[in-house]
Amino acid sequence: MSHFRFLDLPRELRDVIYNYLILPTKEIYTGVDERDTIVTATDVPIPDLLQVSKEFNSEYSDQLPQSRTLHVRSGHCFWWTEYPGIPGPLAHKIKECYVYIHIVCYCDNMSDGEREEFEALETQCEAVDFLRDYRERLEMFLSQLRNRQSLHLRIGLWGDEEATVDQDSEVGEESDDVPRIPSHSTGFADVLSMFIAPPLEVSDIEVVRCVSDEEYEGYRMGEKHGLPTYLTWSRTGGWRKGTLVGLRDG
Ligand SMILES: [Zn+2]
Repeated sequence: MSHFRFLDLPRELRDVIYNYLILPTKEIYTGVDERDTIVTATDVPIPDLLQVSKEFNSEYSDQLPQSRTLHVRSGHCFWWTEYPGIPGPLAHKIKECYVYIHIVCYCDNMSDGEREEFEALETQCEAVDFLRDYRERLEMFLSQLRNRQSLHLRIGLWGDEEATVDQDSEVGEESDDVPRIPSHSTGFADVLSMFIAPPLEVSDIEVVRCVSDEEYEGYRMGEKHGLPTYLTWSRTGGWRKGTLVGLRDG
């Protein structure tokens, strides 16, 4: 009885099989505990199969899409440290990148008076401090992805649950025409604008409110979230006020 030889199959059939052997999505980095950053990539080959033979490897690699997507699901901001290096062959094929960030800040929950005092002290909101520092590290990480074409920034801001009270019910219909950025704090809007500028040049931004670890966990894993939105920004649509009311207009 003769042995079955995979490479004796017609090429079309081999290609069908190769395609079954590409993982639609795979975690390529997980930190030391569940609060750490998780990085997933789309269309990942099975490493062992790349060792089968030269011919197999070449045909298998031909079936991998030229453009891949990376999801960087940052861990809890209190424990967040660094992002990992991405292996070169994958890094160079990343065209699209989604980055999820977790930020804790309670300054939403201040009364107008408290906020005035706070800002007079020139103390920045914690979200601003975090994002300033974070931006540089994100820049460093993204410099690995030389062929990146888009960047989608997803921010889970862990404000206070009380902060959603309808402080300002007049912010309604005409609020869409307000040219200024609806903001969490004045500085917050400013620091987000820095992500829009080169070299990061984000394609779009979404800021939602997460009040628990579980909410952020679901959000960063890309689950359909239904969380209240602070604001969104896109290259085509500009700034849009989200579903949270009671936010100051900057
Ligand atoms: Zn804040």
